[in-house]
Amino acid sequence: MFRSGDRIEVKTPGELEAMRVAGLVVAHTLARIRDAVSAGVTTAALDDIAAESIRGEGATPSFLGYHGFPAHICVSVNDEVVHGIPGPRILAAGDLVSVDCGAIVDGWHGDAAITVAVGDVTPDVAELSRITEEALWAGLAAARPGGRLSDIGHAVESRIRAAGDHYGIVEDYVGHGIGSRMHMEPAVPNYGRPGRGPRLKPGMALAVEPMVVLGAADVQVLDDEWTVAACDASPAAHWEHTVAITEDGPWVLTALGEVRP
Ligand code: MG
Ligand code: MG
Repeated sequence: MFRSGDRIEVKTPGELEAMRVAGLVVAHTLARIRDAVSAGVTTAALDDIAAESIRGEGATPSFLGYHGFPAHICVSVNDEVVHGIPGPRILAAGDLVSVDCGAIVDGWHGDAAITVAVGDVTPDVAELSRITEEALWAGLAAARPGGRLSDIGHAVESRIRAAGDHYGIVEDYVGHGIGSRMHMEPAVPNYGRPGRGPRLKPGMALAVEPMVVLGAADVQVLDDEWTVAACDASPAAHWEHTVAITEDGPWVLTALGEVRP
């Protein structure tokens, strides 16, 4: 279970400002990719946009070379949940594409993900993405000083459960602490009972990232040893933001506009 909160990195206000700079690079990059997603575009072309955007803003991509990952972003299509590798795949109308991006500025990390529909998708697929994004924001809202870590996962799960029992919340992959490294303590699950785990303190930063399948939550790693896909081949959505806990409440460091208390 959860260990002491003492191991969670606490940032100074100035360090959180530095993380916001990295977060904005991620926000700008994901906005550029969102605008480029359309039928006929390859996932490799999205990676090229990410490379140009991240480096163009003077940042370093966190994913490239991370445990050997071969690209600047993860692009996961339809039943792929996370960690898809960009390549020659051509997007088609009706696809649902999740894009995950990380950037480093002056040693500080930002990490966020969006899910984008290619042209018209079926209503149930559009709803999957909408509910997953809403669940993300419910989790972010629970990132408050004095609260407990598990309040976040509880808020995420509650939003998804309220939407129906046809959604599978992926449990094999979770959110994480973030700051001077991309993946740090603590793990941030997308489920659980509230009021448990470390107490949330100003200066902590977390990546909250619900992964939801329009089917069963079981996932498997494909033969490329990266792509995580739904075992039942159902479509999946993934939304993520990096959030800082401040005295007054959550500050969403990877939001395109200012989302702070
Ligand atoms: Mg991410
Ligand atoms: Mg993450």
